[in-house]
Amino acid sequence: MKSGESTPWKYPVTVGVAFRVIINVASPSHEAATGEYTEHKKAPIYYGGRTYLDVPIISGNALRRYVKEALIVTAEKHGLPIGNLCRKGIFTHWNTKRDLSNDVGIGKLAVNNVKDCLRKCVMEDAAGFMYAEKDARRGASIVRFSRLHVATMKPTYESLSQAKVYPIQFARHVPGKEEGKGKSGQMVFRVEHISGEFAGLVTLDAHLLGFDDYTQQYFVKVPDDVVKRAEAVLEAMYIALNRLGAMKARSMTVGDVTSLTITVAQGLFTPTDPARRDYIESTVNEAQKYEELTGWKVNVITYPQESAGIAEAFTKAKEKLGELLRESLAGGSNAGQSP
Ligand SMILES: [Zn+2]
Repeated sequence: MKSGESTPWKYPVTVGVAFRVIINVASPSHEAATGEYTEHKKAPIYYGGRTYLDVPIISGNALRRYVKEALIVTAEKHGLPIGNLCRKGIFTHWNTKRDLSNDVGIGKLAVNNVKDCLRKCVMEDAAGFMYAEKDARRGASIVRFSRLHVATMKPTYESLSQAKVYPIQFARHVPGKEEGKGKSGQMVFRVEHISGEFAGLVTLDAHLLGFDDYTQQYFVKVPDDVVKRAEAVLEAMYIALNRLGAMKARSMTVGDVTSLTITVAQGLFTPTDPARRDYIESTVNEAQKYEELTGWKVNVITYPQESAGIAEAFTKAKEKLGELLRESLAGGSNAGQSP
């Protein structure tokens, strides 16, 4: 696309998943510590007046990893390409040339090769990557911005003072600590255990899947592959909600998604912060005002108000997502262009 030309889509298509979940899990942020001292992931939350509370939080990066792990499965189900490293759950993100070469089989990397990364690995496409080795196109580095955005999970405002985080202690065999050589084969580990009602927000810029920021072109089939990739990511978001907690053996009692709001919007729209008690009503109201102001449509899907289960809510969202993407990409300036 040259300057002056219009975008290859009629309008952006964005998805927002705001949810509340009761969790009782070990190591939700994928952390384990040895020794006597454990630092928990906490953040200050403004509580009104002059009060701040230190509350346990769950890393957005951890939640992002759950989505990526689920995307391995949903991508394969949709017949989408996925690199060799990503398929194994090794997500390098900050890549060396060897990482990218191992993942998508690229020998020499230049800005133009972003095309190959997008085509050969849906993970690089959806979750982004950075390549910052010195010789990338004589000093130029490559940044592929993530289309998937994941917020830190924090306790809902009603449960701020109830959310708890404790270290739990366990012993584990440690490689390098060999038995029978005067050293113990066991070490004590401490792992966070978090309980509470937490709020999370995940968004997706669906129209930018398969799209390269540098050349402003789609490198996948439009609209079919963009729709397939978007559906795979949405399904991965659904699966991730049921898989919180890194240590599965201790975390099977994950708990329930207590409520959920999914928005599938024309343009750029984000649901209200789900830590707020009224986030569902607020999202519905904001969506109406947004529609009046912009003339664009927002589909708001809620659970438990409108949907019998969270799977049903995601099914409705998937339908709307496909409809909007096809309509948006059918009228774009390079619609129908094959890779
Ligand atoms: Zn990959």
